[in-house]
Parts: sequence; C-alpha cells; structure tokens
Amino acid sequence: MRATIMYQAGDVRIENIPDAAIRQPTDALIRVARACICGSDLWPYRLKPADGQGQNMGHEAIGVVEAVGHDVRTIGVGDVVIMPFAWSDGRCEFCHEGLQTACVHGGFFGNAEVGGAQAEALRIPQADGTLYRLSTGEDHALMASLLTLSDVMGTGHHAAVVARVGKGRKAAVIGDGAVGLCGVIAAKRMGAEQIIIMGRHPARLALARQFGATDVVSERGAAAIERVRELTGGFGVHSVLECVGTEQAMATSMGIVRAGGAVGRVGVPHYDVVPQAQPMFYRNVLVGGGPAPVRAYIDELLPDVLEGRIQPGLVFDRTVDLDGVPDGYRAMDAREAIKVMVRP
Ligand SMILES: [Zn+2]
Repeated sequence: MRATIMYQAGDVRIENIPDAAIRQPTDALIRVARACICGSDLWPYRLKPADGQGQNMGHEAIGVVEAVGHDVRTIGVGDVVIMPFAWSDGRCEFCHEGLQTACVHGGFFGNAEVGGAQAEALRIPQADGTLYRLSTGEDHALMASLLTLSDVMGTGHHAAVVARVGKGRKAAVIGDGAVGLCGVIAAKRMGAEQIIIMGRHPARLALARQFGATDVVSERGAAAIERVRELTGGFGVHSVLECVGTEQAMATSMGIVRAGGAVGRVGVPHYDVVPQAQPMFYRNVLVGGGPAPVRAYIDELLPDVLEGRIQPGLVFDRTVDLDGVPDGYRAMDAREAIKVMVRP
C-alpha cells in the first residue's frame, strides 16, 4: 500500500510499504477515506535530522472499517469511523476520567510502530476504545467538519476548556493556524464575550472573524501585549488559548493573561522552561494543557457539527490525493494553505 514517509526536514515521500494488517485481537483495520496534514507535522518538516529513519506520517482520519480482530465488540466491518490522533482502550481509569491521551494502553499515531494516516490504510490498536462510529456515510457533506473532530477542533476545544473560557469572559487565541481558528470556534461556543485573535495572515484572520473573533491583534512581542491590554481595560484576558508552542507564544501568554486567569497550552512546547515563573506566581496564573483527549470531546462537539452550529471544516482550503501530499506540506509550511485534506 502507499503511505507518507518523512525522511528529513523538507523530504516527504509517498512510498510503497507493507500492507497494514490486524496484529492484535483488539485491532481494527481501516481504509482511510480522509486524512489531513497537521500543523504539528510541520515541526519534523522543518527540524527532522537526516538520521536515515523514515517516519510514517499522519494522525487524523476518517476511515471505513475493513476488518476487525477477534476481541473487537463495538466496531464492525463497514463502519465509518473517526480516528482520534491517540489510541486508547476506553477502559482504564484515565479513559474513564476523560483523559484518553494518558491511557495506560494508549499511544499516538504517526510512527513506525503503528503507522500513519496519510496512507491508504491503517491498523487501529484498541479499536473499541479508540474509534468513534458515525452514522453518516463516507461522502457526507459535512465530512470536512467531521474530520476536524479527529484533532484540530477537539484540540482547540481543549485549549478553551483548560483556559476556563466561560460566559462573559475575555479570551485571546495565540496562533492563526487551524487549531487557533478552532480555538476561536470553541471560545465562542463556550460563551466568551470578547475573543481576540492574534495573528497576521489576512485570509486566516478573516476566517477567525467569521468564527466569532471580535478583535484582531497583529503586533508581536511587547507591542502585542500592550495592544491586548488596551483592548481589555488594562488587565488582560481571563483565558489565553496558546496554540503555537514557541517560547515567544508562552511569553506573550504571560503578558496578556489577567491576574487569576488561565493559559491553555495545546501547541507542542518547543522550549524547556515556562518563562516568567514569578509573575505567574504573584498573579495567580494557571498554566495547563497538553495533548487533547479529543476522543472524550466528540460526544459533545458532534451534535454542533451535524446541526451546523459550528463549521470547523472551513479550515480546509486545499484537498490533495496521496501524490499531492508532499506539495501539501510545502504549501502549509509556506502558509499558502491553512490546512490540507488528503483523499487517498
Ligand atoms: Zn485507557
């Protein structure tokens, strides 16, 4: 079968690899109907060293189940399913607490052990816990928005939950990538009265406005902090959705969060130490977040997608087949595309 392999920064190839197959009785095998390229895939696209190891890419998909192992009970052949970016058994204490990304039998897609979703097919460990069965067909009109429930919409929602967005509160979203844009949707959905999007890309900012952003801040560094404070009566925002993962984004978060506020981090941190520990302490700022338990959030978000109250699928502005995946990486890296959908 054909799959996407990343060899080093800038070197993504579509290759023939051994067919995905059931290995454990709890596995399912899916044919990938839709996948996508994630902002987090751009980190290895920029930084992966040439170590001779190829990495299987892709961790977001909607698939059609082609086979299931002997112990799979709730998922059957022919089901159309959302594949969250992490697999989980659905049975351990972390899964019961709604933190499937800490599942004791869990793990993350997009590596040599389990393969990646930017491929024709994929083995799904712990299929009963991992997969979410849809009642829609694989060519449903809302497929783009449904696909975001495998990662970006759930991740934006997680940032808003951790940042304690609520009715009448002020929120800022750092990052105008697909996750940041979904963070705007989440903040609006959870009742934020003011939503400041921080970014510079005109098409993305227009989409943020469409999703409910009330203000745009395109400055950077100290000027950005000053501007957010001006917009919020001098005190800053209750909730910061940090959707980038750089040290600068965290420093900006600390500068714009109000005393007693919260920062929800969902961008993979590319720094070792959270800056400004003393201001964080003296101003009672909470910093939290991590890999979003998107599996837990599908129940809550799916009705809003199916009934058209939210349209996170608008973050996709390009669709490619597998041959188009390398150029899809290039386009996202060059910020020509917000998010690329893959139809293998
Ligand atoms: Zn578990």
